[in-house]
Amino acid sequence: MTLTVGQLEEARRALDAPLFADLAGDAQVSFEFFPPKTEKMEATLWQSIETLAPLGPRFVSVTYGAGGSTRERTHATVARIQRETPLAAAAHLTCVEATKEEIDAVAEQYWAAGVRHIVALRGDPPSEGARFAPHPGGYANAAALVEGLRKLHPFEISVAAYPECHPDSADAKADIDNLKRKIDAGATRAITQFFFSPEAFFRFRDAAAAAGITAELVPGILPVSNVAQTRKFAGLCGAAIPAWMDRLFEGLDDHPAARQLIAATIAAEMCRKLYAGGVRSFHFYTLNRAELSYAICHLMGLRPKVGAKAEAAWAAKKPRSFRAKSRNGDNRHASVSRLRSTRTECEHERT
Ligand SMILES: Cc1cc2nc3c(=O)[nH]c(=O)nc-3n(C[C@H](O)[C@H](O)[C@H](O)COP(=O)(O)OP(=O)(O)OC[C@H]3O[C@@H](n4cnc5c(N)ncnc54)[C@H](O)[C@@H]3O)c2cc1C
Repeated sequence: MTLTVGQLEEARRALDAPLFADLAGDAQVSFEFFPPKTEKMEATLWQSIETLAPLGPRFVSVTYGAGGSTRERTHATVARIQRETPLAAAAHLTCVEATKEEIDAVAEQYWAAGVRHIVALRGDPPSEGARFAPHPGGYANAAALVEGLRKLHPFEISVAAYPECHPDSADAKADIDNLKRKIDAGATRAITQFFFSPEAFFRFRDAAAAAGITAELVPGILPVSNVAQTRKFAGLCGAAIPAWMDRLFEGLDDHPAARQLIAATIAAEMCRKLYAGGVRSFHFYTLNRAELSYAICHLMGLRPKVGAKAEAAWAAKKPRSFRAKSRNGDNRHASVSRLRSTRTECEHERT
């Protein structure tokens, strides 16, 4: 990748100036949540959404459990965000264990609920370690799903990308070729799996550009406060955990507050390096907690967008009872299914 003079200047300042001095606050952010399983988790989620919303994310997304196991909960959460907040909601949707007709029906429900953004994924098999096998009547992979969604409605479509290669890929080239297929099928952007090496992202960005991919690549940022649990999940998705991370968290098992501070520092420094390399969009895996993502955004210079317009947008959509509901964990709008969700459980474990 060729850096512009402005980017080179920014890179030089990143080295010369104190960390995070003079950040313009011009980055765009999005936040990922998972559908809550219990009333308590639901209350936490809505508090987090309310905390992060003033930062003006361009969208917030909600994950879809393995095998469609969170279908109702994902839909309820996405629809409620769309209905009750001024935020643009994006729904994750996977191909696992469903026919094309079933998946199309879910997408149609989203369209009817006013949701215009889908994060289109192949998904993982519901049982850990199993190989993905497409449903006989289903979409074979994410590229096929993107193609199918394009035929339904003019959705905005995001797809997944892997700076350190997806475990099912033969090699890095095959992985990039697959990403290109998804973009060519009609996706507008790719959001990456989490990673801890900015260099890996820059190499991936260069390889994508060399393959003719011009769509936006948004790094997925996972603030880690428990390295052992993150390692377990990283093993499944092909992300490398650097040795220094183990050393940093050593001896902190009984110091959750210190772990949080370190998590924010690591993630913020990575964002700073990505910013210095020209990245202006970041997607945060919030794990339904606002504090870490909020702190990192603040360090990047983002401030709440307050003012008459923002207030009016909330007032127009937010029911008067919203705050009370958030505090009480009122679950009226969510039909909480009891089904298992591998991805959701993994995400929960990542905290
Ligand atoms: C931002 C993000 C959000 C996610 N959200 C969810 C979620 O909500 N729910 C969930 O269950 N999972 C989610 N995942 C995980 C994702 O489902 C898994 O990583 C899954 O294993 C791959 O999905 P994909 O969409 O990348 O698949 P694909 O892009 O279809 O590719 C998967 C692998 O198969 C290979 N492949 C695909 N098509 C072909 C082909 N025609 N020929 C050869 N090889 C091919 C690719 O090279 C790649 O290695 C998310 C991942 C990311 C990065």
